[in-house]
Amino acid sequence: MFWADKVASDIINSKKYKPYWVDDMKTPSGFSHVGSLMGPVIHSMIYRSLKDSGQKANYTFVINDFDPADDLLPEIRGSFESELGKPLKLAKSPDPKFKSMADLFGSDFVNAIKNLGVEAEILSSWELYHKGKFDEVIRQALDGAEKIQDIYQRVSGSRKKEAGWLPFQVICEKCGKLGTTKVFAWDGEKVSYKCEPSLVTWAKGCGHEGKISPFGGTGKLPWKVDWAAHWKVIGVTVEGAGKDHASAGGSYDIAMTICKEIFNYDPPFKLPYEFVLIGGKKMSSSKGLGLKAHDLVSILPPSVGRYLFARNGIKSQTNFDPEGTNAIPVLFDDYQKAADAYFEDGDKDLARSFELSQVGKIEKPPKVRFSVLAQWVQMPDMEEEIKKEGLGTWAEYAKVWVDRFASEEDKFTIQQELPSEVKKLSSIQRHLLEKILKELGETWTGEDLQTRIYELGKELGLGGKETFAAIYISLLGKDHGPKAAWLILSLDKKFVVQRFSDASKA
Ligand SMILES: [Zn+2]
Repeated sequence: MFWADKVASDIINSKKYKPYWVDDMKTPSGFSHVGSLMGPVIHSMIYRSLKDSGQKANYTFVINDFDPADDLLPEIRGSFESELGKPLKLAKSPDPKFKSMADLFGSDFVNAIKNLGVEAEILSSWELYHKGKFDEVIRQALDGAEKIQDIYQRVSGSRKKEAGWLPFQVICEKCGKLGTTKVFAWDGEKVSYKCEPSLVTWAKGCGHEGKISPFGGTGKLPWKVDWAAHWKVIGVTVEGAGKDHASAGGSYDIAMTICKEIFNYDPPFKLPYEFVLIGGKKMSSSKGLGLKAHDLVSILPPSVGRYLFARNGIKSQTNFDPEGTNAIPVLFDDYQKAADAYFEDGDKDLARSFELSQVGKIEKPPKVRFSVLAQWVQMPDMEEEIKKEGLGTWAEYAKVWVDRFASEEDKFTIQQELPSEVKKLSSIQRHLLEKILKELGETWTGEDLQTRIYELGKELGLGGKETFAAIYISLLGKDHGPKAAWLILSLDKKFVVQRFSDASKA
């Protein structure tokens, strides 16, 4: 059974998680890495699978825009330091088209997930707090502060926080920062807080002390408590967590326990998942490190982007390293195989992975392999062929792959001048070029010309490699390239004849 269907059937069979409410969340603290699309996509697949089983289900995605800004984009360091510590919803956006950092980064991420067909209703944590939806859980958390401390200690084995610790942070009424405040008293109506100059290393508090009601958006719960609180407030019954949070005694376990013991709400179905590491270790030294969620739209069609995460599933960590490799062409090949399984009644899991990867109506992908297309887009005058084969959309992605990711091996350029490499041609190879050019006047199909060139080489005692190398060296200045006949036919006939003639005499 396909992994998403297995998860959905486990959820249904355990009979504990109705109504089915799938949720995931993200803090919009910067432009997200492409790997962060994994969560929304796998939740989308599970959501679809629940619905395909005839169940009613909801899917929400929370933007954690109440979280404090704790880091700055490298390009604005030095000029936006005053924004650090403020809630992201109040931190000034470096792009003036957006009101806040949360709006800028949040909408950037939402666009990226919508592109991948993630159908979740988007919720703003800031709004939920400000509408008073969290008031009840805030009271429960403040009243249960001691018990929450015990849970941290029991579940994670961490040492007990200092006496009087309270699980809440207030937006400082003087400087507007959230990340710097510490609440030290709770009287059942108001909390007392101090804005500490050195509570955190990344922001400096102003020293202000105040007393304020914790309700209605004046402040928020700390992360692990906040996570559990969201489940209860929204009514979540299914929310996964990446491996980094889902280790035994980690934040996922802590939030689950708080959910149950403090908020008296059944914790959601437990779904730890492994990541697709984009680029793996190599990434740190390559351009790929900067691969952002919003870049995916120009690199892969939406359905292939979903498929990248679908084929991996949730059980094993894999690397996807597009830089200077053929990882992207292989992904397209795999996607085509999954499509074949779907349309030709092949392997059921593969077919299902294709089906759940669709965005909008189900479409048959092209038959031509991506690696071949990547050669076509580097040849002149191939537009007609590309159009005829219905490859227009994929051709755009092939161009991007050639420009941004392909190794030098996979790139070629028709040399406008006779390449100096022709000096390496043997006399037999030169003779071969003369023979080929004499036959170019006829009308050829790619297949026939390819066979004919091979025969001509054979007649002269050349192997296939030497035969085609003569053509590549003359046209590209290197000894390998795309299928030679198609390359020749994509070029102006006069140009090829002249080139072969020049190369044979050089
Ligand atoms: Zn302050």
